[in-house]
Amino acid sequence: MNTVDIIVPCYNEAAGLDLFYLRTMESIEELQNRGYEFRFIFVNDGSKDDTLQVMIRLSAQHPRISYLSFSRNFGKEAAMYAGLQASTGDYVIIMDADLQHPPELIPQMAASLEAGHDCCAAMRTNRKGESPIRSFFSRLFYRISNRLTNVKLAYGAVDYRMMTRQMVDSILELCEVERFSKGIFAWVGFDTEWIPYENVERAAGTSKWSFKSLSRYAIDGITSFSVVPLRILSVIGGVISLAAFVYIIITLVQTLLYGINVPGYVTTLCAVLFLGGLIELSIGVVGEYVAHIYMESKHRPIYLLKEKCINTSDEPVKDQPVKREDDSKK
Ligand code: UDP
Ligand code: MG
Repeated sequence: MNTVDIIVPCYNEAAGLDLFYLRTMESIEELQNRGYEFRFIFVNDGSKDDTLQVMIRLSAQHPRISYLSFSRNFGKEAAMYAGLQASTGDYVIIMDADLQHPPELIPQMAASLEAGHDCCAAMRTNRKGESPIRSFFSRLFYRISNRLTNVKLAYGAVDYRMMTRQMVDSILELCEVERFSKGIFAWVGFDTEWIPYENVERAAGTSKWSFKSLSRYAIDGITSFSVVPLRILSVIGGVISLAAFVYIIITLVQTLLYGINVPGYVTTLCAVLFLGGLIELSIGVVGEYVAHIYMESKHRPIYLLKEKCINTSDEPVKDQPVKREDDSKK
């Protein structure tokens, strides 16, 4: 018998959680008949709506539903990490609560792992329900990121995947505070099979990503996996110094041969502005890395739990909720 934990990060998903549970249960019915044992781990990432109440109700109605609830919103990355830490199954599935990750793919994923793959991950073949501007920047991010880092991200790859215990344990070994899971999944390696799927619009609620948070995510993604931007700056610095040196020699020779030359105002202004801009940019890039070092050096926990209810039995949870005591986890 194989046990499978389904980890579902939820932020303001009260409206769609019941439907999510129903649709997922329908999709895994056949696997359950074949001896797979599924458990749900819902992670409430500091939702401001009734998401936690829905989770409590679901776990009181259905067996094998657990939930973790954060003290505030820590982000999807933290929610996935918390779910992975709480998981104990032979296999783990991570999926969104909004049904944008079709649960119908689960049997295909299970078949892939049965066939010997370590991971089976979903890949979007279209970006329906997404603005063209977001798609453009997303494509740009993948192109830049794959140029700059050794970790190759697949375009269209999403967090929806099924993994073996071994791969999950490897992911948990990377305990950096500022997590970029897309990169981490690729970094740990293992044999991943990709299955394409058509993107669908959210079942309920709205996307939590703003343009600002996405650009932050993209910059963090590149700077967590590559120091190439720093090297590029060193090369640019070197090239400009060399050019300046050559220019100085030429000017000196010209001055000695033809007397004092009064350089143009525009040339001076351009040089000052260009170099000033470049220095600012360099400080900004170095600053990004310093910020990462600063955040990591504080060793703050990735999330804080407020409530936790782990149910591994075949019975729904009766006494709710189980308050967290002093097991604050990293
Ligand atoms: N999510 C979360 N914490 C957040 C933002 C999102 O746990 O701070 C969850 C959200 O509830 C959903 C998943 O992450 O289950 C994906 O979020 P969303 O649908 O907003 O992202 P998109 O599909 O637009 O990329
Ligand atoms: Mg979504």
